[in-house]
Amino acid sequence: MLEFLKARPSVPAPTAAKPGRDRVAHGRAAVAFAARLGFENVSRRYGNTLALDNVSLDVPSGKVLCLLGPSGCGKTTLLRIAAGVERPSSGRVVIDDAEVAGPNRFVAPEKRGVGLMFQDFALFPHLTILDNVAFGLRSMTKAEAKAEAMTALERVGLGRYAGEYPHILSGGEQQRVALARAIAPRPGVLLMDEPFSGLDTRLREAMREDTLAILHETRATCIVVTHDAEEAMRMGDQVVLMRKGRVVQTGTAPQLYRDPKNIFAARTFSDLNEMKARVEGAAAATPLGTFPAQGLADGTDVIVCARQGGVCLNTPGKGALGRVLDTRFLGDVGLVELAVQGLDTPILARVRESDVPAQGTEVGVSVDAGAVLIFEAENGASEPSP
Ligand code: ADP
Repeated sequence: MLEFLKARPSVPAPTAAKPGRDRVAHGRAAVAFAARLGFENVSRRYGNTLALDNVSLDVPSGKVLCLLGPSGCGKTTLLRIAAGVERPSSGRVVIDDAEVAGPNRFVAPEKRGVGLMFQDFALFPHLTILDNVAFGLRSMTKAEAKAEAMTALERVGLGRYAGEYPHILSGGEQQRVALARAIAPRPGVLLMDEPFSGLDTRLREAMREDTLAILHETRATCIVVTHDAEEAMRMGDQVVLMRKGRVVQTGTAPQLYRDPKNIFAARTFSDLNEMKARVEGAAAATPLGTFPAQGLADGTDVIVCARQGGVCLNTPGKGALGRVLDTRFLGDVGLVELAVQGLDTPILARVRESDVPAQGTEVGVSVDAGAVLIFEAENGASEPSP
Protein backbone atom coordinates (compact mmCIF):
# COMPACT_ATOMS: atom_id res chain seq x y z
CA MET A 1 0.00 0.00 0.00
CA LEU A 2 2.88 2.31 0.74
CA GLU A 3 4.15 1.78 -2.79
CA PHE A 4 1.58 4.29 -3.85
CA LEU A 5 3.13 6.96 -1.70
CA LYS A 6 6.67 5.96 -2.38
CA ALA A 7 6.01 6.46 -6.07
CA ARG A 8 4.42 9.82 -5.33
CA PRO A 9 6.49 11.20 -2.50
CA SER A 10 4.15 14.09 -1.87
CA VAL A 11 2.80 17.14 -3.55
CA PRO A 12 3.00 20.72 -2.36
CA ALA A 13 0.94 21.39 0.67
CA PRO A 14 -1.95 23.79 0.46
CA THR A 15 -0.08 25.67 3.14
CA ALA A 16 3.35 25.33 1.53
CA ALA A 17 5.22 28.32 0.20
CA LYS A 18 4.67 29.15 -3.45
CA PRO A 19 7.65 28.46 -5.71
CA GLY A 20 10.13 31.24 -5.42
CA ARG A 21 8.78 32.54 -2.17
CA ASP A 22 10.98 32.29 0.84
CA ARG A 23 13.71 30.92 -1.35
CA VAL A 24 16.95 30.97 0.54
CA ALA A 25 20.47 31.05 -0.81
CA HIS A 26 21.71 28.19 -2.97
CA GLY A 27 22.74 25.18 -0.99
CA ARG A 28 20.20 25.84 1.72
CA ALA A 29 16.84 24.20 2.01
CA ALA A 30 13.75 26.04 0.91
CA VAL A 31 11.46 26.95 3.75
CA ALA A 32 8.07 25.38 4.31
CA PHE A 33 5.30 26.69 6.50
CA ALA A 34 5.38 24.23 9.33
CA ALA A 35 2.08 22.71 10.28
CA ARG A 36 0.90 21.56 13.69
CA LEU A 37 0.01 17.89 13.71
CA GLY A 38 -2.31 16.45 16.33
CA PHE A 39 -3.61 12.97 17.16
CA GLU A 40 -6.70 12.92 19.36
CA ASN A 41 -7.66 9.62 21.00
CA VAL A 42 -6.55 7.63 17.97
CA SER A 43 -7.11 3.87 18.07
CA ARG A 44 -6.50 1.32 15.31
CA ARG A 45 -7.63 -2.25 15.44
CA TYR A 46 -6.59 -5.09 13.12
CA GLY A 47 -8.83 -8.04 13.95
CA ASN A 48 -7.97 -8.87 17.55
CA THR A 49 -4.85 -6.71 17.60
CA LEU A 50 -5.18 -3.26 19.08
CA ALA A 51 -2.24 -1.66 17.24
CA LEU A 52 -3.00 1.79 18.70
CA ASP A 53 -4.88 2.28 21.93
CA ASN A 54 -6.23 5.79 22.44
CA VAL A 55 -3.14 7.72 21.43
CA SER A 56 -3.17 11.50 21.88
CA LEU A 57 -0.18 13.51 20.74
CA ASP A 58 0.61 17.01 19.71
CA VAL A 59 3.52 17.77 17.42
CA PRO A 60 4.16 21.53 17.59
CA SER A 61 4.93 23.42 14.38
CA GLY A 62 8.49 23.11 13.23
CA LYS A 63 9.52 20.60 15.89
CA VAL A 64 11.02 17.15 15.48
CA LEU A 65 9.22 14.46 17.42
CA CYS A 66 10.77 11.00 17.72
CA LEU A 67 8.49 8.04 18.14
CA LEU A 68 10.42 5.42 20.05
CA GLY A 69 9.47 1.92 21.08
CA PRO A 70 10.08 -1.78 20.51
CA SER A 71 9.01 -3.54 17.34
CA GLY A 72 5.24 -3.96 17.12
CA CYS A 73 4.33 -1.13 19.52
CA GLY A 74 2.41 0.80 16.84
CA LYS A 75 4.91 3.41 15.59
CA THR A 76 4.48 2.71 11.89
CA THR A 77 0.72 2.47 12.21
CA LEU A 78 0.64 5.95 13.73
CA LEU A 79 2.79 7.31 10.91
CA ARG A 80 0.59 5.67 8.28
CA ILE A 81 -2.47 7.18 9.87
CA ALA A 82 -0.85 10.62 9.76
CA ALA A 83 0.05 10.08 6.11
CA GLY A 84 -3.47 8.92 5.26
CA VAL A 85 -2.57 5.46 3.94
CA GLU A 86 -4.31 3.98 6.98
CA ARG A 87 -7.50 5.11 8.68
CA PRO A 88 -8.00 5.27 12.43
CA SER A 89 -10.69 2.95 13.86
CA SER A 90 -11.61 5.86 16.11
CA GLY A 91 -10.24 9.27 17.03
CA ARG A 92 -9.11 12.21 14.94
CA VAL A 93 -6.00 13.50 13.18
CA VAL A 94 -5.71 17.24 12.73
CA ILE A 95 -3.25 19.31 10.72
CA ASP A 96 -3.29 22.99 11.59
CA ASP A 97 -6.65 22.55 13.34
CA ALA A 98 -8.27 21.02 10.24
CA GLU A 99 -9.45 17.43 10.64
CA VAL A 100 -7.78 15.19 8.05
CA ALA A 101 -9.03 11.89 9.49
CA GLY A 102 -11.95 11.35 11.81
CA PRO A 103 -15.52 10.19 12.06
CA ASN A 104 -16.75 12.67 9.49
CA ARG A 105 -13.83 13.48 7.30
CA PHE A 106 -11.01 11.80 5.45
CA VAL A 107 -8.52 13.85 3.45
CA ALA A 108 -6.65 11.90 0.76
CA PRO A 109 -2.89 11.44 1.35
CA GLU A 110 -1.85 13.67 -1.55
CA LYS A 111 -4.01 16.53 -0.23
CA ARG A 112 -2.47 16.61 3.25
CA GLY A 113 0.79 18.38 2.52
CA VAL A 114 2.67 15.52 4.12
CA GLY A 115 6.04 14.28 2.90
CA LEU A 116 7.36 10.79 3.51
CA MET A 117 10.75 9.19 3.74
CA PHE A 118 11.07 5.51 4.38
CA GLN A 119 14.07 3.31 4.93
CA ASP A 120 13.26 1.25 1.85
CA PHE A 121 12.68 4.27 -0.38
CA ALA A 122 12.77 3.62 -4.10
CA LEU A 123 14.38 5.87 -6.68
CA PHE A 124 13.28 5.46 -10.29
CA PRO A 125 16.25 3.96 -12.13
CA HIS A 126 15.21 5.32 -15.52
CA LEU A 127 14.91 8.94 -14.32
CA THR A 128 17.84 11.28 -13.75
CA ILE A 129 18.59 12.15 -10.16
CA LEU A 130 17.15 15.63 -10.69
CA ASP A 131 13.96 14.20 -12.21
CA ASN A 132 13.66 11.80 -9.26
CA VAL A 133 13.69 14.77 -6.92
CA ALA A 134 11.32 16.78 -9.13
CA PHE A 135 8.85 13.90 -9.39
CA GLY A 136 6.45 15.10 -6.73
CA LEU A 137 6.40 18.70 -7.93
CA ARG A 138 3.63 18.24 -10.45
CA SER A 139 1.67 21.37 -9.79
CA MET A 140 4.58 23.52 -10.95
CA THR A 141 5.82 24.23 -14.45
CA LYS A 142 8.67 21.99 -15.51
CA ALA A 143 11.20 24.77 -15.15
CA GLU A 144 9.99 25.72 -11.67
CA ALA A 145 10.00 22.07 -10.59
CA LYS A 146 13.57 21.61 -11.82
CA ALA A 147 14.71 24.74 -10.00
CA GLU A 148 13.07 23.62 -6.76
CA ALA A 149 14.50 20.11 -7.16
CA MET A 150 17.96 21.55 -7.76
CA THR A 151 17.72 23.62 -4.57
CA ALA A 152 16.83 20.49 -2.59
CA LEU A 153 19.55 18.44 -4.27
CA GLU A 154 22.18 21.05 -3.56
CA ARG A 155 21.06 21.21 0.03
CA VAL A 156 21.86 17.53 0.47
CA GLY A 157 25.22 18.08 -1.23
CA LEU A 158 24.50 16.22 -4.45
CA GLY A 159 23.90 19.00 -6.97
CA ARG A 160 26.77 17.73 -9.10
CA TYR A 161 24.90 14.49 -9.81
CA ALA A 162 21.72 16.15 -11.11
CA GLY A 163 22.04 14.77 -14.65
CA GLU A 164 23.25 11.29 -13.63
CA TYR A 165 21.17 8.18 -12.95
CA PRO A 166 20.65 6.63 -9.48
CA HIS A 167 22.78 3.50 -10.08
CA ILE A 168 26.00 5.53 -9.74
CA LEU A 169 25.15 6.55 -6.17
CA SER A 170 26.23 4.84 -2.96
CA GLY A 171 23.60 3.78 -0.41
CA GLY A 172 24.13 6.94 1.64
CA GLU A 173 23.89 9.14 -1.42
CA GLN A 174 20.67 7.45 -2.52
CA GLN A 175 19.28 8.19 0.89
CA ARG A 176 20.23 11.84 0.50
CA VAL A 177 18.36 11.92 -2.80
CA ALA A 178 15.34 10.42 -1.05
CA LEU A 179 15.60 13.19 1.54
CA ALA A 180 15.85 15.83 -1.19
CA ARG A 181 12.75 14.33 -2.83
CA ALA A 182 10.87 14.43 0.46
CA ILE A 183 11.72 18.08 1.20
CA ALA A 184 11.48 19.45 -2.36
CA PRO A 185 7.68 19.99 -2.23
CA ARG A 186 8.20 21.87 1.05
CA PRO A 187 5.80 19.71 3.01
CA GLY A 188 4.40 21.23 6.19
CA VAL A 189 4.77 17.82 7.82
CA LEU A 190 7.52 15.30 7.13
CA LEU A 191 7.20 11.70 8.27
CA MET A 192 10.28 9.47 8.44
CA ASP A 193 10.08 5.77 9.22
CA GLU A 194 13.40 4.35 10.47
CA PRO A 195 15.14 6.56 7.91
CA PHE A 196 18.68 5.59 8.85
CA SER A 197 18.43 1.94 9.80
CA GLY A 198 19.73 0.75 6.44
CA LEU A 199 23.04 2.58 6.90
CA ASP A 200 26.19 1.54 8.72
CA THR A 201 27.01 3.29 11.99
CA ARG A 202 29.30 6.07 10.76
CA LEU A 203 27.14 6.94 7.80
CA ARG A 204 24.07 6.86 10.00
CA GLU A 205 25.55 9.42 12.37
CA ALA A 206 26.54 11.73 9.52
CA MET A 207 23.11 11.40 7.88
CA ARG A 208 21.40 12.01 11.20
CA GLU A 209 23.26 15.25 11.79
CA ASP A 210 22.78 16.44 8.19
CA THR A 211 19.11 15.57 8.25
CA LEU A 212 18.59 17.47 11.48
CA ALA A 213 20.28 20.53 10.04
CA ILE A 214 18.07 20.31 6.96
CA LEU A 215 14.93 19.81 9.01
CA HIS A 216 15.72 22.86 11.09
CA GLU A 217 16.30 24.89 7.95
CA THR A 218 13.14 23.76 6.24
CA ARG A 219 11.27 24.20 9.52
CA ALA A 220 9.02 21.29 8.61
CA THR A 221 7.16 19.62 11.45
CA CYS A 222 8.63 16.17 11.59
CA ILE A 223 7.97 12.74 13.07
CA VAL A 224 10.88 10.32 13.05
CA VAL A 225 10.22 6.68 13.94
CA THR A 226 13.06 4.81 15.56
CA HIS A 227 13.68 1.90 17.90
CA ASP A 228 17.03 3.37 18.93
CA ALA A 229 16.85 5.39 22.17
CA GLU A 230 20.10 7.22 21.48
CA GLU A 231 18.88 8.27 18.05
CA ALA A 232 15.60 9.49 19.56
CA MET A 233 17.42 11.48 22.23
CA ARG A 234 19.81 13.03 19.72
CA MET A 235 17.20 13.97 17.14
CA GLY A 236 13.96 14.66 18.96
CA ASP A 237 12.89 18.03 20.35
CA GLN A 238 10.31 15.77 21.92
CA VAL A 239 10.52 12.02 22.42
CA VAL A 240 7.43 9.85 22.67
CA LEU A 241 8.00 6.44 24.17
CA MET A 242 5.39 3.87 23.11
CA ARG A 243 4.60 0.38 24.26
CA LYS A 244 1.83 -1.99 23.19
CA GLY A 245 -0.06 0.66 21.24
CA ARG A 246 0.04 3.23 24.01
CA VAL A 247 2.07 6.29 24.84
CA VAL A 248 4.13 5.54 27.94
CA GLN A 249 5.75 8.94 28.34
CA THR A 250 6.36 12.13 26.37
CA GLY A 251 9.04 14.70 27.05
CA THR A 252 12.41 16.09 26.10
CA ALA A 253 15.35 13.72 26.15
CA PRO A 254 16.66 15.01 29.49
CA GLN A 255 13.19 14.74 31.06
CA LEU A 256 12.81 11.13 29.97
CA TYR A 257 16.33 10.24 30.99
CA ARG A 258 16.22 11.90 34.39
CA ASP A 259 12.66 11.17 35.37
CA PRO A 260 11.42 8.01 33.65
CA LYS A 261 7.84 7.20 34.57
CA ASN A 262 8.32 3.47 35.03
CA ILE A 263 10.98 0.82 34.79
CA PHE A 264 10.29 0.21 31.10
CA ALA A 265 11.10 3.88 30.37
CA ALA A 266 14.12 3.75 32.68
CA ARG A 267 15.53 0.69 30.93
CA THR A 268 14.96 2.31 27.54
CA PHE A 269 17.10 5.35 28.28
CA SER A 270 19.81 4.03 30.57
CA ASP A 271 21.91 0.94 31.27
CA LEU A 272 20.88 -0.17 34.74
CA ASN A 273 21.82 -2.52 37.55
CA GLU A 274 18.61 -3.79 39.14
CA MET A 275 18.29 -4.96 42.74
CA LYS A 276 15.19 -6.21 44.54
CA ALA A 277 14.33 -4.61 47.85
CA ARG A 278 11.42 -3.86 50.19
CA VAL A 279 10.57 -0.40 51.48
CA GLU A 280 11.05 0.01 55.21
CA GLY A 281 11.03 3.31 57.03
CA ALA A 282 10.50 5.13 53.70
CA ALA A 283 13.77 3.75 52.36
CA ALA A 284 15.01 0.78 50.33
CA ALA A 285 18.08 -1.00 51.62
CA THR A 286 20.44 -2.80 49.21
CA PRO A 287 23.97 -4.15 49.60
CA LEU A 288 25.12 -1.00 47.75
CA GLY A 289 23.42 1.39 50.14
CA THR A 290 20.07 2.57 51.48
CA PHE A 291 18.10 4.96 49.31
CA PRO A 292 15.03 7.11 50.04
CA ALA A 293 11.84 5.62 48.55
CA GLN A 294 9.59 8.65 48.32
CA GLY A 295 5.92 8.03 47.79
CA LEU A 296 6.16 4.27 48.30
CA ALA A 297 4.48 2.70 51.31
CA ASP A 298 6.43 0.57 53.75
CA GLY A 299 6.27 -3.09 52.77
CA THR A 300 6.19 -2.36 49.00
CA ASP A 301 8.39 -4.62 46.90
CA VAL A 302 10.58 -2.44 44.72
CA ILE A 303 13.35 -2.62 42.17
CA VAL A 304 16.23 -0.33 42.94
CA CYS A 305 17.97 0.67 39.71
CA ALA A 306 21.50 2.03 39.73
CA ARG A 307 22.79 3.56 36.52
CA GLN A 308 26.02 1.90 35.42
CA GLY A 309 27.70 5.30 35.24
CA GLY A 310 26.70 6.01 38.86
CA VAL A 311 28.55 3.05 40.37
CA CYS A 312 31.74 4.22 42.11
CA LEU A 313 34.81 2.07 42.72
CA ASN A 314 36.69 2.97 45.90
CA THR A 315 39.45 1.58 48.02
CA PRO A 316 38.34 -1.57 49.91
CA GLY A 317 36.42 -0.74 53.07
CA LYS A 318 34.64 2.22 51.49
CA GLY A 319 31.26 0.82 50.45
CA ALA A 320 30.30 -2.80 49.80
CA LEU A 321 33.02 -5.35 49.26
CA GLY A 322 33.43 -6.16 45.57
CA ARG A 323 35.79 -8.03 43.28
CA VAL A 324 36.47 -7.29 39.62
CA LEU A 325 35.36 -10.26 37.52
CA ASP A 326 35.96 -8.84 34.08
CA THR A 327 36.68 -5.58 32.26
CA ARG A 328 35.81 -4.36 28.76
CA PHE A 329 37.42 -1.54 26.85
CA LEU A 330 34.82 0.82 25.35
CA GLY A 331 37.03 3.76 24.39
CA ASP A 332 36.79 6.70 26.79
CA VAL A 333 35.07 4.54 29.38
CA GLY A 334 35.57 1.00 30.56
CA LEU A 335 32.90 -1.48 31.59
CA VAL A 336 33.72 -3.29 34.82
CA GLU A 337 31.87 -6.42 35.90
CA LEU A 338 31.83 -6.83 39.67
CA ALA A 339 30.80 -9.47 42.15
CA VAL A 340 29.41 -7.64 45.19
CA GLN A 341 28.95 -9.17 48.62
CA GLY A 342 25.25 -9.66 49.28
CA LEU A 343 24.16 -9.60 45.63
CA ASP A 344 23.31 -12.80 43.73
CA THR A 345 24.20 -11.43 40.32
CA PRO A 346 27.19 -9.36 39.19
CA ILE A 347 26.76 -5.63 38.53
CA LEU A 348 28.28 -3.44 35.83
CA ALA A 349 30.06 -0.13 36.35
CA ARG A 350 31.09 2.37 33.69
CA VAL A 351 34.21 4.20 34.77
CA ARG A 352 36.88 6.34 33.12
CA GLU A 353 39.15 4.09 31.12
CA SER A 354 42.16 5.22 33.17
CA ASP A 355 40.36 4.16 36.40
CA VAL A 356 39.59 0.60 35.31
CA PRO A 357 41.06 -1.80 37.89
CA ALA A 358 42.69 -5.08 36.96
CA GLN A 359 40.69 -8.30 36.96
CA GLY A 360 40.64 -9.87 40.42
CA THR A 361 41.15 -6.56 42.27
CA GLU A 362 39.18 -6.10 45.49
CA VAL A 363 37.35 -2.77 45.64
CA GLY A 364 34.81 -0.89 47.69
CA VAL A 365 31.60 -0.32 45.72
CA SER A 366 29.10 2.47 46.27
CA VAL A 367 26.45 4.26 44.20
CA ASP A 368 25.75 7.95 43.68
CA ALA A 369 22.34 8.59 45.22
CA GLY A 370 21.52 10.73 42.13
CA ALA A 371 22.05 7.72 39.87
CA VAL A 372 19.40 5.63 41.62
CA LEU A 373 15.79 5.15 40.50
CA ILE A 374 13.24 3.15 42.47
CA PHE A 375 10.11 1.56 41.00
CA GLU A 376 7.39 -0.69 42.32
CA ALA A 377 8.23 -4.27 41.41
CA GLU A 378 4.94 -5.02 39.62
CA ASN A 379 5.14 -2.10 37.24
CA GLY A 380 5.85 -4.01 34.00
CA ALA A 381 9.07 -5.25 35.53
CA SER A 382 9.37 -8.28 33.29
CA GLU A 383 8.90 -6.36 30.03
CA PRO A 384 12.02 -6.03 27.95
CA SER A 385 13.03 -2.55 26.81
CA PRO A 386 13.39 -1.70 23.10
P1 ADP B 1 6.01 -0.85 14.91
O1 ADP B 1 6.10 0.11 13.77
O2 ADP B 1 6.15 -0.19 16.24
O3 ADP B 1 6.94 -2.02 14.77
P2 ADP B 1 3.42 -1.50 13.78
O4 ADP B 1 2.68 -0.23 13.79
O5 ADP B 1 4.01 -1.96 12.49
O6 ADP B 1 4.53 -1.47 14.93
O7 ADP B 1 2.46 -2.66 14.29
C1 ADP B 1 1.69 -2.59 15.48
C2 ADP B 1 0.86 -3.85 15.63
O8 ADP B 1 -0.15 -3.89 14.63
C3 ADP B 1 1.66 -5.13 15.45
O9 ADP B 1 1.15 -6.08 16.36
C4 ADP B 1 1.41 -5.52 14.03
O10 ADP B 1 1.51 -6.91 13.88
C5 ADP B 1 -0.02 -5.05 13.84
N1 ADP B 1 -0.30 -4.67 12.44
C6 ADP B 1 0.24 -3.62 11.79
N2 ADP B 1 -0.25 -3.54 10.53
C7 ADP B 1 -1.11 -4.57 10.38
C8 ADP B 1 -1.96 -5.03 9.31
N3 ADP B 1 -1.99 -4.40 8.14
N4 ADP B 1 -2.72 -6.13 9.54
C9 ADP B 1 -2.69 -6.75 10.73
N5 ADP B 1 -1.93 -6.37 11.79
C10 ADP B 1 -1.15 -5.30 11.62
